Amino acid sequence: MPKIVDNQEWFEIIKHKEYLYVIRERLDEIDPRFYTTYTNLYLVIGAHSALLIDTGCGLFPLKPIIKDLVVGKTLLVINTHSHFDHIGGNHEFDKVLIHKKERKQISKPRDITFLRDSPKEVVKHFENKNYILPPVKEIQPVIDNEIIDLGDISVKIIHTPGHSPGCISLLTNKNELFTGDTAHYGMMYLTKKTFPIILSSITKLLDLFNDSENIEIYPSHEEFAVSKDLLVDLIKGIKNIDKIWDRKIRDDFLEAWVLSDENFKYAIF
Ligand SMILES: [Zn+2]
Ligand SMILES: [Zn+2]
Repeated sequence: MPKIVDNQEWFEIIKHKEYLYVIRERLDEIDPRFYTTYTNLYLVIGAHSALLIDTGCGLFPLKPIIKDLVVGKTLLVINTHSHFDHIGGNHEFDKVLIHKKERKQISKPRDITFLRDSPKEVVKHFENKNYILPPVKEIQPVIDNEIIDLGDISVKIIHTPGHSPGCISLLTNKNELFTGDTAHYGMMYLTKKTFPIILSSITKLLDLFNDSENIEIYPSHEEFAVSKDLLVDLIKGIKNIDKIWDRKIRDDFLEAWVLSDENFKYAIF
């Protein structure tokens, strides 16, 4: 039997600001073959509503933890995109917002049987779900430039495709920029044919710094908060991939080519 871990032990809850919690999940404890240590979920708490950004991989209940943090507020839940490590807890909530291009992906049960042979014992907790993540009951599609009003805090949706077609970033009126999987240090998952699309999305994020140099970046994996150097490094890194292409190594689990530079690893599909 796997070691019993409850949700309080599983999630690391960090009160980063008066109105901003970071809820971290160890993705490497689910499966180290993703080459990623942390998934970061964020909870932004406004005067009348709170926004949960992503729901993790669904191994342990998330809602009880969130409920305790947002007493007396309306809770909204949004997915930065539809990959399994961001949507696993969706079914615990009544409604989830996601970009319209990925609404279909979260409308049906998600098969995660690829985790069955993970070397991590804790993953056996998925056995009672038969390695299927149930879908959310109601989906509210969002589009580029839409504003979510939380009271004193507003959050703007920025469509940043490339890592996936419906990837979004979110910018608050207090200058926090949540970049999802569009930009983070560590392992970046990319498709070679969409390099121009991801480069234009990252450039779009970099342009936000023309209006305010004080933006802080909160990615969905690994380090937070980071500076705009992340975006500059990532553009440089992706543009350089062709030059280091002969260093690529085949990864059978990911079914991708893997290569790295000093700032990033890249899984290229
Ligand atoms: Zn992703
Ligand atoms: Zn991810």
